[in-house]
Amino acid sequence: MTTKAYAARSPTAPLAPHSITRRQPGPTDVEIDILFCGVCHSDIHMARNEWGGAEYPVVPGHEILGRVTRVGAKVTKFRAGDLAAVGCMVDSCRTCDSCGKGLEQFCASGATFTYNAPDKHLGGMTFGGYSERIICDEDFTLRVPANLDPAAAAPLLCAGITTWSPLRRWGAGPGRKVGIVGLGGLGHMGVKFARALGAHTVLFTTSAGKVADGKRLGAHEVVLSTDADAMAAHARTFDLIVDTVSADHSLDAYMQLLKVDATLALVGAPPSPQQISAFSLIMPRRNLAGSLIGGIAETQEMLDFCGKHGIVCDIERIRMDQVNEAWDRVVKADVKYRFVIDMATLKG
Ligand code: NAP
Ligand code: ZN
Ligand code: ZN
Repeated sequence: MTTKAYAARSPTAPLAPHSITRRQPGPTDVEIDILFCGVCHSDIHMARNEWGGAEYPVVPGHEILGRVTRVGAKVTKFRAGDLAAVGCMVDSCRTCDSCGKGLEQFCASGATFTYNAPDKHLGGMTFGGYSERIICDEDFTLRVPANLDPAAAAPLLCAGITTWSPLRRWGAGPGRKVGIVGLGGLGHMGVKFARALGAHTVLFTTSAGKVADGKRLGAHEVVLSTDADAMAAHARTFDLIVDTVSADHSLDAYMQLLKVDATLALVGAPPSPQQISAFSLIMPRRNLAGSLIGGIAETQEMLDFCGKHGIVCDIERIRMDQVNEAWDRVVKADVKYRFVIDMATLKG
């Protein structure tokens, strides 16, 4: 099926209209008419080939929410007319150890990511949600709680699950002091989730203009990370810090804030290697960890939690043709706090 999309044709080209081919839905597939797609900083890293490995054209977008238009004969979870969502993965081997544990993102054969991954059905690479429609196996399609605003729920599919997963894994909850570094798309969801899970929540930001928003979004305390005294006042007090920063920054500055055996979990993916002093880890014993999105069952658990607690993202809706401008603002850390593309503006 010929499908309208927006693509980057090279690392330096702006996104521009493009036409892609989608497969006809197979027996276990769901066809989704995309209503909204969030703009993740990973879209920018990938389309600009900042991590390497991009194959052009790149059609980004992995915070996809839409309405089911058709389902295959064997589909049981969805019917035409349902709301449905697709996040960062559209398939995996389903038989390896990781897949068996619900960690499809770490599939031994490599999960099929929503864009820029080998497409098992059509050959070439997968294309993401900056497009009119997507076809996805029902096992990788998520249910969206009906009480959530669909535009504001779309970024839960990456920004939501990517912060939810480390907060759950490393035990954010009552009696624990949890830090979130960076108030962007991921960071603002990290603050909301840490607070909703009952942790004492501290936001670290480089932007003085985001302090009030940090508190409004749920942080008990907001620390300007450029203020050395304010940072020192928190030394050795944190159980967990989740770092969402997308660019070069000091990891040692955050390691110093951890208690013995506490963890700094990186989710931000700066393109260049970040330095760390051995002393940050050995004195006192501390952990440096990382986390990649979350599994499919865990993503559904996060969406259901959001439905129960009425949690969505703080978004700015844009037209498809405003996406290049939005990307420039994301790079300047000027997003409050996620851009979401109204995909009707691509179809019209
Ligand atoms: P974003 O909206 O651009 O937020 C990043 C935030 O980092 C900014 O708002 C800013 O917060 C802070 N920041 C930016 N440049 C900085 C610098 N030079 N020094 C210190 N702080 C800086 O990006 P996002 O969409 O949340 O994504 C964040 C990162 O996570 C990206 O690298 C993305 O690729 C990665 N990611 C990883 C996963 C995963 O599975 N691990 C999933 C999705 C995204 P302040 O203004 O508050 O300082
Ligand atoms: Zn993402
Ligand atoms: Zn697997």
